[in-house]
Parts: sequence; structure tokens; C-alpha cells
Amino acid sequence: MSAKILDGKWVRDQILTDLKPRVDRLKQAQRAPGLAVVLVGHDPASEIYVRNKIKACGDLGIYSEKITPPDTLSTEDLLGIVEGLNEREEIDGILVQMPLPAQVDKHSVLVSVRPDKDVDGFHPVSVGNLVANHPGPRACTPAGIMEMLRRYEIPVAGKNAVVVGRSDIVGKPMALMLLHANATVTICHSKTPDLPAVCRRADILVAAIGRAAFITEDFIQPGATVIDVGMNRKPDGKLIGDVDPEAMARLSSAYTPVPGGVGPLTIAMLMSNTVQAAEQHLL
Ligand code: NDP
Repeated sequence: MSAKILDGKWVRDQILTDLKPRVDRLKQAQRAPGLAVVLVGHDPASEIYVRNKIKACGDLGIYSEKITPPDTLSTEDLLGIVEGLNEREEIDGILVQMPLPAQVDKHSVLVSVRPDKDVDGFHPVSVGNLVANHPGPRACTPAGIMEMLRRYEIPVAGKNAVVVGRSDIVGKPMALMLLHANATVTICHSKTPDLPAVCRRADILVAAIGRAAFITEDFIQPGATVIDVGMNRKPDGKLIGDVDPEAMARLSSAYTPVPGGVGPLTIAMLMSNTVQAAEQHLL
């Protein structure tokens, strides 16, 4: 039987369609949700991400604002910008696009965003809410993956889930979300011995490593669901994930392609977090 392709654009469109009436309701009640995006300097990849986020806001009827300070700014300058946005009533969500220039203290900036406006889900308060399984904004990429599993009705409870990668933005929150959905979760990283054997135990394998086609056939249990978070640029400019695409298509029962799998979900969940923050502020 051939593997099912998990279509990130289809899931994204479903998420956005579900958000539309909630945005309309907020507009009727008071005003549109508001998102402020701070883009420091001119990193080309960040400029594209921010452009896509602003466009998604426009398509959904969310008010958005882009603040573009120069990359020479100090930590204090950026804290001042965030503080100003914290105070503004019509701004429900604040996103500071990463990476930041080396002279800026990233941690100070992350904790300066008011937790009720933390639409990235990176603030320590949001991380604590995730750990405790309390409501609150969730990190967008893993939250999108959970939406995808749910909408494709892929069972998680009682399954063995293996997450390769332990970053604060993908691996760790992914593992916690799978745990809260009652999977038995293993988190792997660069010091994990015999990674292929650990991965072969996975019913759900999530690769968030940042190494092109690192996960090969030896890592995949036949019939597993494989979620490829990786976005690596090949020398010819094309995108490739962390999983060997041929092995994934041949061995898995369902998988996310790159591009078109996990990628589209992140911005949809940012929209979701922004609408949720606005509902908390206004309803
Ligand atoms: P990080 O570089 O922050 O983390 C990578 C993780 O992979 C680390 O925990 C690291 O382990 C682990 N790792 C690296 N090499 C190995 C190895 N040889 N064996 C086992 N584990 C290894 O990356 P991110 O989490 O930020 O991103 C991961 C990938 O996902 C990237 O390709 C990124 O572009 C992509 N991404 C995609 C998004 C999307 O929207 N689709 C959003 C965010 C990221 P250790 O901790 O031991 O160093």
C-alpha cells in the first residue's frame, strides 16, 4: 500500500477557514485582532518569513504592523520597542523575528514580551503552561503538527513517538505536546547512541534536526508516520527535509513532504495564536 501524503496546505487552509468567523466576530464585537512583527535588519530569509506572516494577516482580516529597526540597535532599544507594543491596546500579539543581531540579548527580549501577547509561545510563562498542560499560546510549528495529526485522524495515544532534535522551538515543545496526547515519547539528540535503532521503535517519527536527508531507511519502522520538519537548502537551491524522501515514501504509512508538509502550518498557527490572544483581550 502506498503511503499517505500529509498535505500541509490542506491543513493550513482548514485552520484558516476555521479562524475566519472568529476574526469576523471580533471585528463585530470591537475591532480586528492586531499583530505587530518586529524585523531587525535585513536578513533575506527573515524578510521572506515576515512578508508571508503579514500577508496571512491581510488575507484573514487581522490588522498587522511591521516595525523594522536597523541591525545596529542595542538590547535596550529593542526592549523599548517591545515595551511600547506591550502598552498598545490594539496590539494583541507581538512577534520578534529571530535571529537577532549578536549584540542583542535574545533572552531579555523574549521575556520582555507580555505573556498574554506572546503569540510565538516562546516566553517562559508560555513554556511553563505547556509543561503543565495549562491553556496558553503554544509554539507554532509543533502545534501545527498536532493539528495535522488530529485532522488526518492519526492516532497518537498509546503510540511510541520519537522526536529527533531538542530545540526550544521545535523538538522540546513537540515532545511535550505528544506526551500530553498520551504518546510514549523519546527525545533524541546529537549524543543519542544508536539513533537508527531508537528511531525504528517509532510509530510516529518527528525529525527536527537541520541536516539534509539525515534520516534514511535504517531509521524508519515500516508503517510509521513520519513528520519531516527539516528545511534544508540544497546547492541547486531546492528544499530538502531531514528525511530521505524516497525512503520515507517507500516505508512509511503517512508522511509530510518537503516542501508542502510542515512548512505551511507554522504561519497558520501564528494566526491561531493571534486570534486566541485577541479573544482573551476582547471577549
Ligand atoms: P536546532 O539547530 O536548534 O536543533 C537541532 C537539533 O537536532 C538539536 O537538538 C541537535 O542536537 C539535533 N541534532 C543535530 N545533529 C544531530 C545528529 N547528528 N543526530 C541527532 N540529533 C542531531 O534546529 P531547529 O529545531 O530550530 O530546526 C530543525 C529543523 O527544522 C531545521 O531544518 C529548520 O530549518 C527546520 N524548521 C522548520 C520549521 C517549519 O516551519 N517547517 C520551523 C522551525 C524549524 P543537540 O541538541 O545535541 O545539538
